Amino acid sequence: MSEAKVALITGAARGIGLAAARKFLEEGWRVAMLDRDTETLRSAVEGLGQRNTVLPVFADVSQPDQVQRAVDETENAFGRLDALVNNAGVATFKPVLETTFEEWSEIMATNLSGPFLCTNAAVPAMLKSGGGAVVNIASISGLRASLLRVAYGTSKAAVLHLTKQQAAELGNLGVRVNAVAPGPVDTAMAKKVHTPDIRADYHDAIPLNRYGLEEELAEAIFFLCSDRASYINGQYLAVDGGFDATGIGLP
Ligand code: NAD
Repeated sequence: MSEAKVALITGAARGIGLAAARKFLEEGWRVAMLDRDTETLRSAVEGLGQRNTVLPVFADVSQPDQVQRAVDETENAFGRLDALVNNAGVATFKPVLETTFEEWSEIMATNLSGPFLCTNAAVPAMLKSGGGAVVNIASISGLRASLLRVAYGTSKAAVLHLTKQQAAELGNLGVRVNAVAPGPVDTAMAKKVHTPDIRADYHDAIPLNRYGLEEELAEAIFFLCSDRASYINGQYLAVDGGFDATGIGLP
């Protein structure tokens, strides 16, 4: 039997990242679950109860030293790395003129510098394993402009372009890079930033008239990391109930 593959998933303590970790484990992969929230990550890992196939990694994706240590810990524990899911993200929804430089910088550090740093640290490890795949988690907020998302939406638009840049250069090394652009999913992040008005807007603008489920995002993330997506590189997959297809924006 061949050795089980290994994924490093950032922001895996809860929400979409935790659902992705579950999906990879169900598919027989081993998973390094990275998060900066140590308590939540500890209880998530305990809840999974799969001691040999799960590694908790405590790190902040915006800190280069911590990111390198996280990749080293993953390699030391599992001996290989096949996939990276750049999922850790933060959101603050505010009018453009009220968004402070600190808020802007915090969002860029996690949402944009995080995927840059993690990919640069992870790819050398992937090459030792014969290649791999990266999935960057963007957002429908990066596809078109809407109110209150100057920092968040800009960070996610940049992640979509980062994906193309990385795909263009890393493809011929044997590493595919793609993005998933989720529509709204009712995680802790959404509970923080989605007001009743925003929820109503999404309901009306999304052809399926509902939020996505964490598990629905996990399916797409796993697919793009798997060999079934072996000729898909530099693309984004909107998992959004049809929002992107309509071309209708939010207010
Ligand atoms: P969440 O807030 O529930 O989970 C995010 C996790 O990332 C948390 O565990 C948090 O501790 C961790 N994290 C944040 N900053 C970090 C950092 N610097 N270093 C390490 N860990 C960090 O969010 P979620 O809704 O599951 O979002 C996951 C991803 O999906 C994010 O990139 C988000 O922008 C994106 N997304 C979410 C939605 C949605 O509606 N929930 C929609 C579109 C895109």
